[in-house]
Formats: sequence, structure tokens, C-alpha cells
Amino acid sequence: MSNLPPKIDDLGERTRLVHAGRDPSQQHGFVNTPIYRGSTVLFPTTDDLLNRRGRFTYGTHGTPTTQSLEAAWTQVAGAAGTVLAPSGLAAVTLALMAFLKAGDHLLMTDSVYRPTRIFCEGMLKKFGVETTYYDPLIGAGIADLLRPNTSVVFTEAPGSQSFEMQDIPAIAEVAHGHGAVVIMDNTWATPLFFPPHDRGVDVAIEAGTKYLSGGSDLLLGMVSANERCFATLRKTYDALAMCPGPEDVFLGLRGLRTMALRLREHERQALDMAKWLGDRPEVAQVLHPALETDPGYAIWKRDFKGSSGLFSVVLKPCSDKALAAMLDGLALFGMGFSWGGFESLVVPFDCATYRTATQWRPGGHGLRFHIGLEDLDDLKRDLDAGFARLRDADG
Ligand SMILES: *Cc1c(COP(=O)(O)O)cnc(C)c1O
Repeated sequence: MSNLPPKIDDLGERTRLVHAGRDPSQQHGFVNTPIYRGSTVLFPTTDDLLNRRGRFTYGTHGTPTTQSLEAAWTQVAGAAGTVLAPSGLAAVTLALMAFLKAGDHLLMTDSVYRPTRIFCEGMLKKFGVETTYYDPLIGAGIADLLRPNTSVVFTEAPGSQSFEMQDIPAIAEVAHGHGAVVIMDNTWATPLFFPPHDRGVDVAIEAGTKYLSGGSDLLLGMVSANERCFATLRKTYDALAMCPGPEDVFLGLRGLRTMALRLREHERQALDMAKWLGDRPEVAQVLHPALETDPGYAIWKRDFKGSSGLFSVVLKPCSDKALAAMLDGLALFGMGFSWGGFESLVVPFDCATYRTATQWRPGGHGLRFHIGLEDLDDLKRDLDAGFARLRDADG
């Protein structure tokens, strides 16, 4: 399957998103790769069957639909190859299992997505892998934590919920000098805003559930890898048969075509809202690395090409009751996990209950916002009324 229109080099990002992983000439002229469902793949001869000859050999190993998204994501991420997974968390666990074995040591950012942490503390520990959490701001100081058996350094930028910005190139340089593999959860920026493999990341994870979908209507993960790591990743994928469902892959391909547009709009809306929230008397601090006032701004500016729709604020001290009065009465903001869809969301959070290498003491409740595609004035009115309820509740 060709992945690009012929005879055109140096395509821009948006053109690539439209064409990648698509070959209408193979689909009777229809624009999109259809949903292939299936387990059995028939071989024409005994010889072909015994030697597993052919691009497709069995449903768990891939279909034209999954190959289409793998090829497209490989281009978008600037990788050597991609495997898919049935969720973002499955993509994380697949990447970790590919590069760790019993007796290994893992360095994990303290700001990581919490379910990743739970996997380290449960499954990885059970299989004999030791995890050390590190300060996300450690940069080249990661050198002090590397041990002879450290095989993976796991990063995520910005940090989950609290949005610490990591110096990925500095961490990667030190880790590579040690022979360790650098894995990054790149879900927030996507490769459009942070090209992971150009910045020293060997293996990059994306929860396709978020901006690839854009609709809160599917679960999907992508793991892309550079030349050094792809063969090992693919082998682990085949061993685990961690294949996503065909409808979700199809919807992921559909989302890919409009992802750049949606992401730019989420970025614009979120920056506007972050500044508006920063001016509110009820807000103590805005945690958004693309704001000049943020401690992570310099690194964001150097390494990232954009920011997405997700950020947090810390409120000035208020009672739990006042916070509930604010949130329970919101008409447009939904409360629920995940993000990346067209709708705005808010969730309260408290990192203090689970972080171990750093201390989280912001002095007020944390709120994480995802800014959707609604009219900003409507969203602001919804929050304005919420802040009024918050103030009233505390008298
Ligand atoms: C949502 C998310 C995941 C997990 O994705 P699911 O598809 O919900 O399993 C992983 N990492 C980050 C940073 C996320 O935000």
C-alpha cells in the first residue's frame, strides 16, 4: 500500500494527515480504507500456509484497516514503525513490557498518568522489575539515578494533572549514554506539537482515545518507535496479540484527517480560557506550560510546536462544600475522566495522595480542564456562575 501520493516530497503536515495510510486505488476508488473484520486469512497453497507467506496471515497480526492506521501514524510521528493497542493504557503497558525484563530497573517520572503508576506497582513489581520515581524537573540530573540494570527511562510531558514540563532532550542524552531506552507518553501534545523521535524519544505512546478520536467515542492506543526499537516492539505486540477492535481503528483513521484543525482550535480556546481563569479572584495559579508565566514555558517554547486543550488551575483555599457547589451546578462543563473530545470537561484532582518523589502542596483544590469546541462566551458564563456558587457557599 502506498502511503503518499506519488512524486511529491516534503509534504506539509496537514497534507500528510489527509493522505497518510490511504490508497483509494486498492479500494475500488473509495476514499477510505474500509473496516476489515476477521480471524482466518486463507492461503492459496500449502507452501504459502506453512511459511506464513503474505502480508496478512491471521486477524490478531493485523488487517488492511490496522495497517492503514499503523502506516499513517508512522509518518505522522516520524517513526520507523507503529503498533496499535486497544487503549492508551494498553499502549503504555505494551511499551513497558517490550523493553523490561525480570531484574531490570525502571526510572519513572513522578508526574506520570496514574494508571501507569499502578501498572508499575502491581504487574511490573510482580514480574521482578523495580521502579524508582524521579522528579519530573530532574533533566540531566537523571544521571545520578541510573543503575547498571536501568533499562528504561519513562517520561511524560507535561505531567499528568500538574503539567510539569520535562527536558526530554537532556534526559534522552543521558539515558542513551547509559544504553537505556527512552519511552514517552506524548498524549498531550501529539506528534503534531511534539515530534517525539526528533527530540530523542525511542518509543512514543499516544492515547488515540483523546485527540485522534476527537469525539469521546473510541478507545485506542498507538506506540511508535525508532529504528533502534521497532523490531522489539513489534515482537512483543505479536506475542501479546494486543489488537484493537476494527471499528475503533476505522474511527481513528477518520479522526486523523481532521486532527490538526481540531488541535489548533482546542489550543486557541484553552489558551484564552487559561488566561481568563488566571484573572479570576478565585484562582491562585494556572498550570499551563504555554503561558509565559508558567515555570515550564522556556522548555515548552524550545521543544514544542503548540499546546493542546488540557490544563489545570489551583484555586485559592475554599471548602469542599464550596467546590462541590461550583462543580455540581455546571451546565456545559461535564465531569468525567478522559478528554480530547469536542466537549469541555472539568475534574478535581489531588496529586498529594499518590506522588512519592515530589511534594504536591499547592494550598488549594486542583481543577483540571479540557476546553472543547463550544463558544467560549458560553463556557465563561457557565464558570462565572459556578464561581458565584463557590463564593456563596463559603459565605
Ligand atoms: C488517557 C491517557 C492515557 C490512557 O488512555 P486510555 O485510552 O484511556 O487507556 C494514557 N496516558 C495519558 C497521558 C492519558 O491522558
